[in-house]
Amino acid sequence: MAMMRRKKICKFCEAPELKIDYKNYKMLRRFITEQGKIIPRRITGTCTKHQRFLTTAIKRARNIALLPYSNNLKEL
Ligand SMILES: [Zn+2]
Repeated sequence: MAMMRRKKICKFCEAPELKIDYKNYKMLRRFITEQGKIIPRRITGTCTKHQRFLTTAIKRARNIALLPYSNNLKEL
């Protein structure tokens, strides 16, 4: 039996109470690399719909400096 082969399940589909919010940077940080890049969904297992929400939230969080940009921060 191929019990070991489990498909990755989208965390957000699995737990509908889990909200993708730009203010929830602690959660968002699990979806970016140490360099500040968004981790592709084939690695995290996030579905297309939720990955898009994540991307938006991460970008919004960056705008208010909760999360680092992938390159150096520039002066405003
Ligand atoms: Zn999902």
